[in-house]
Amino acid sequence: MRRIEYAKIVETVARLAIESAYELPGDVLGAIEEARAAETDERARRILDQLIENARLASEERIPLCQDTGLAVVFVEQGEDVCVEPPKSSREAGASVAGGTHRPAALITAAINEGIADGYGRGLLRKSVVAEPLRERANTKTNTPAVIHHSVVPGDELSIYVMSKGGGCENKSQVRLFNPTDSAETVKGWIVDVVREAGANACPPFVVGVGIGGNFEQACLIAKKSLLRGMGEANADEFYAQMEADLLAAVNELGIGPQGLGGRTTALAVKIETAPCHIASLPVAVNIECHSHRHKHAVL
Ligand code: SF4
Repeated sequence: MRRIEYAKIVETVARLAIESAYELPGDVLGAIEEARAAETDERARRILDQLIENARLASEERIPLCQDTGLAVVFVEQGEDVCVEPPKSSREAGASVAGGTHRPAALITAAINEGIADGYGRGLLRKSVVAEPLRERANTKTNTPAVIHHSVVPGDELSIYVMSKGGGCENKSQVRLFNPTDSAETVKGWIVDVVREAGANACPPFVVGVGIGGNFEQACLIAKKSLLRGMGEANADEFYAQMEADLLAAVNELGIGPQGLGGRTTALAVKIETAPCHIASLPVAVNIECHSHRHKHAVL
């Protein structure tokens, strides 16, 4: 069994949170540059130039790409041969950690939240999480809790993805439960409508994450997870790769353009993930991601 120090996870998550806020991934920047080269609308080209300049400044001056530094969404894949070494103080005291126990999942959750709080504090990133959604909406002041998706996989590594998910684009995401008899064309038409409704409010150009199948919640989860795939990487299944290409062409025909001011660059990519589903169901979720498509990855 391989042991990974609790403190190492905290430190790694903090670093990923800061880097995510300051550095646009290279493939996302590359996609914006490619869109700039292909864009025919003069105003759209100027906006794409500003996005490229914004990414350069953020990275060089170590400042956030956007004032909304996001809700931290963390995908953690724990190898089955990995365990987490509790913090020294808690080992000595034989005490519980962060309200949990020494169970691995509780330790990982505590370490991730500690890392997010540390990273958002040290990186001077806006804290955007409220403790309760409807009455007081008091800010937790640490940007925690993060939304954590934990899974156990074969191997002895701990893989951690930190995504800084903006609120404006998340608000424009939708899920719909189709009839299983609905056609691919009907589904595609709805996805294009979701992008049309998102419009300028979700800060285009978008990366459009689509989850097809599973059930109500799994469709949303795989839509989110699809956003982690590399920008130039198509779905491995030819049918869905073609659907991604068709959808990208269709949404770019909408004319929304960068920041909603017109042009052909409404989206940089469409990513589809699928899952098996019930014979009576055809869930489809669309997770809209803005041009500030921030995520970082580390393997321990
Ligand atoms: S949607 Fe994205 S670019 Fe727009 S304000 Fe939110 S994080 Fe920033």
